[in-house]
Amino acid sequence: MRFDIIPRLASLDCEGNNRLVAYFSMEIAVSPAIPTYSGGLGVLAGDTLRAAADMGLPLAAVTLAHRQGYFRQILDAEGNQSSEPQPWSPESILVEEDVVVTVTIEGRPVTIKAWRYDLEGVTGHIIPIYFLDTNLEQNDARDRVLTDHLYGGDGDYRLRQEAVLGMGGARLLAALNFKPLVYHMNEGHAALLTVALVEQQLKGANLDSATDHDLEEVRQRCVFTTHTPVPAGHDRFSGEQAYRILGDERARFIERVGAFHDKLLNMTYLALRFSRFVNGVAMQHGIVSREMFPEYDIEAITNGVHAATWTSPAFQAAFDSYLPRWRQDNLALRYAINIPETVIEDAHLESKRTLIAAVKEYSGVELKAELFTLGFARRAATYKRADLLFTDPERLVKIAQECGGLQILYSGKAHPADEPGKAKIKRVIELSHSLSSDVLKIVYLENYEWSLAALLTGGVDLWLNTPKRPYEASGTSGMKAALNGIPSLSILDGWWIEGWIEGVTGWAITDHDEDAGEARSLYDHLEVILPFFYKQPEQWRRIMRSTIALNGSYFNTQRMLEQYVQNAYFPETPVQASANALESMLAK
Ligand SMILES: *Cc1c(COP(=O)(O)O)cnc(C)c1O
Repeated sequence: MRFDIIPRLASLDCEGNNRLVAYFSMEIAVSPAIPTYSGGLGVLAGDTLRAAADMGLPLAAVTLAHRQGYFRQILDAEGNQSSEPQPWSPESILVEEDVVVTVTIEGRPVTIKAWRYDLEGVTGHIIPIYFLDTNLEQNDARDRVLTDHLYGGDGDYRLRQEAVLGMGGARLLAALNFKPLVYHMNEGHAALLTVALVEQQLKGANLDSATDHDLEEVRQRCVFTTHTPVPAGHDRFSGEQAYRILGDERARFIERVGAFHDKLLNMTYLALRFSRFVNGVAMQHGIVSREMFPEYDIEAITNGVHAATWTSPAFQAAFDSYLPRWRQDNLALRYAINIPETVIEDAHLESKRTLIAAVKEYSGVELKAELFTLGFARRAATYKRADLLFTDPERLVKIAQECGGLQILYSGKAHPADEPGKAKIKRVIELSHSLSSDVLKIVYLENYEWSLAALLTGGVDLWLNTPKRPYEASGTSGMKAALNGIPSLSILDGWWIEGWIEGVTGWAITDHDEDAGEARSLYDHLEVILPFFYKQPEQWRRIMRSTIALNGSYFNTQRMLEQYVQNAYFPETPVQASANALESMLAK
């Protein structure tokens, strides 16, 4: 019930005016049919908006059309990755807005239009999502392609794209007559919106004339979420690029406010400089971010996933009958502790069979529903260490032989320019061929994306995560698994530090400085977990149930967005505001 009341209250200020939040993200996974996301960041953005729609939060979102999508992954028999564009057509799915805005980029005026997607929540509330598009006849050929490729092209292309997203997006919202009270930058890609807001604040006067007061007015409206735990991961551009692409006035302004670091335009510093609230995406990531940026106050709000989106159809039906209001109030998942074990067993088996059928269709491999199945799927970035499980292939084979059989499902794309990431995929695929036997089946599924992620996190028996600490800012796929009663076996990094209760929600791989030590701990755990799965099915189902009750009820975007509302967007809620008003009346 709580969520029916608080967000609506929080969204009204004391005069009863709507408080609008503008949410900016380079990628947003809106629907499986719109391929404008590459991985966790985009899925998080989509899940955030789905929760906002459910909660009735007044929010409008901005992203780019990415007409050529991210990319479709093709894997040959040897495990070499190649890629194909995934063109999609906004014309056939979205509503065309009739306003356009113009931003000068590299000395050329670039006209930007927008396509709108109406995202509807569980109570019928709608969140508009604007996909910016520069593919217009009046634009120079070099600019028409700016909204084609997510994370494509070179540094020039990326900076021009970020000017479209940040500056174009802020101007578009103004042209549509939105007056957001809060601008939320989901990662630094949208940081140039702060420059557009200062320009709005100055009503056309030169940026050189901006006073501290002007800057503070803008800072009071901005919120920034950083997602990157290593300095090299932050978005940077050369000074030459900044001056040439953004123009002298803007580049000089950005330099003046301190967003150049080591002579590079650093989007994280720009966002930090102009945000009244900054957060990392899990408790540990907050700590790491404060070490990286000691001059700033950085909070932590742990990520979540959209519960209804990532719960398998079989578990959705179970929750609908045992926890009827779980879609409106995700906290109701805490009462999953009362769902009968047989219901858990049946829902899991149904989801596992659906996954097995899909694996057969995609790869031709036939898996068995009674065999223990391990899942590992995520972007093939090297820090995720997809091959840690194969550190000692002989020991892995022995575990499969002696513990009753093992099936392993892998999936993940490497960014087309990431050669080490592609090498990891190749190594996993080669090993899957050389090690597979009757008792050990390893399958690498091509083209990891939304629907495959849903099938895998819905249907395996254990979710594996082996990142190198502290590179996993949060991680969210394990949260999807938790909603389906699937425990995790993971390195203690990101969200798992908070979600881990040994033997209740899963298991932790012990920290070691060397990869080999962590691999040993991984095998030690599998040697205990597999026999447990095969010999104590009732206890196993109790773990599944506590995983839903403890982690499904917490690691969702409804709880997460509630924290953003209370701490970042509207820290002074109307309730507090009225209490303050009462206090000052009494003081008189
Ligand atoms: C959830 C999801 C991710 C993020 O997974 P991590 O565990 O955070 O790496 C990446 N890609 C897709 C398609 C997803 O659905």
